[in-house]
Amino acid sequence: MQSDPISRALSKFPVATLGHLPTPLEPMPRLSEFCGSASLYIKRDDCTGLAFGGNKIRQLSFYLGDALQSGADTILITGATQSNYVRCAAAASAKLGLECHVQLEDRVPKYDHAYKNSGNVLLDHLFGASVSYYTEGAGEDEAGADRQLDELADRLREEGRSPYVVHLSTGHKPVGGLGYVGAAGEILDQIVEQQLDVDAIVVASGSGHTHAGLVVGLKLADCTIPVKGICVRRAAALQQPRVFGLCREIEGMMGIDPVVDESDVRVDDAFLAPGYGKLNPPTIEALKCAARYEGLVVDPVYTAKSMAGAMSLARATPAGKNILYVHTGGGPGVFGYENDLTELLASGT
Ligand SMILES: *Cc1c(COP(=O)(O)O)cnc(C)c1O
Repeated sequence: MQSDPISRALSKFPVATLGHLPTPLEPMPRLSEFCGSASLYIKRDDCTGLAFGGNKIRQLSFYLGDALQSGADTILITGATQSNYVRCAAAASAKLGLECHVQLEDRVPKYDHAYKNSGNVLLDHLFGASVSYYTEGAGEDEAGADRQLDELADRLREEGRSPYVVHLSTGHKPVGGLGYVGAAGEILDQIVEQQLDVDAIVVASGSGHTHAGLVVGLKLADCTIPVKGICVRRAAALQQPRVFGLCREIEGMMGIDPVVDESDVRVDDAFLAPGYGKLNPPTIEALKCAARYEGLVVDPVYTAKSMAGAMSLARATPAGKNILYVHTGGGPGVFGYENDLTELLASGT
C-alpha cells in the first residue's frame, strides 16, 4: 500500500487508541457547484469520534501513548479559553482513567458569557477536568503559558503524582504531528481506492503540527500533492519557517532522513485578519456555505478560515481538478461564539 513507509516509520511509537479511524473522504458536490470551478472533496477529521472529534484526537493518541508508557497519572495542557485541544485532552484522559488539569488562556479578548462558559468550556467541566487560568501576556505568549503549566506540574510532583505535560510551544517535541503523518497515509490509501486525482490539499495551520505532519507523511510516501496551510494564528512570514522547523523535528523523532524541502511548506495568511479567533467576510461566507450547501459545521477560529482558503483555491483552479479540504473539527466552538453567530445570522449577512 502507498502508506506502508508511513506505517513502518510510526510503528515504534506507543499509541493510545482514542479515535474512530479511518475517517471518511468524500465529495462536496453542492459546495463545488457553488464555487463554480474545481471540485471540492473533504477529509472528515471532524469525525474522529471521541468527544465531538477533530484533529486533536489523532495528536493526543501519540501524546497519551507516550504518557501511559511513562507511567503518568495526570495530564496537563494549556490552550485558549475555547480550545478544542483542551476539550479533547479532558475527554481522552477520562476515557483512559487519567486525571486532567487544563489551563485556559485569555488569548482572545472576548468576555461574554457564552465564550467563557459554553462550547468547549462546558465540555471541559463535563469531562471532569480541573481548570485554572493564564491571564498574563495574552496573545502570543506560548512560552509563558507553558511555564505556568510546568510550575503546576512541579507542585503535583511534590504531592506524589506523576504529571505529563502536553507542551505545544516551540522548543518541545511536536509529538502530535505524528498523528498527521498517519493521517497522510490514510488519505493516500483512500484516494488510491477511490481512484481520485487530488491536485491540492488545504488544511488549517495553527500550532502547525497538523500541517507539518501531513507534509512529512506525504513526502515520506513519495507523494507530491501540494499542501496549502491556511494561517489561523500567525502571519505567513512567521508560520512558514515554524512549520518547516516542525517538519525537521518530526523527521528527527521518526529517525528518517529529511524528506521535506523548504518549498514544500506552503502557507497562506489571506484569511487571518483581523487575527486569531476573529471573523472576516470570507470566513463568514465559508461558515454559512459549508452549513447550507453541505450540512457541515465549521468553526469560527480554524475550519471556517481553512474552508475560505479551500473555496478560494477551488475558484482559482480549473474545472476538472480536485481540491481536498481537511476538516480539522472544532464544532463545539460555535456554541462559544454563539453571540457573534446569532448576530451575524440575524443581520442576514
Ligand atoms: C487545533 C486546531 C487546528 C490547528 O491544528 P494545529 O495542529 O495546531 O495547527 C485546526 N482546526 C481545529 C478545529 C483545531 O482545533
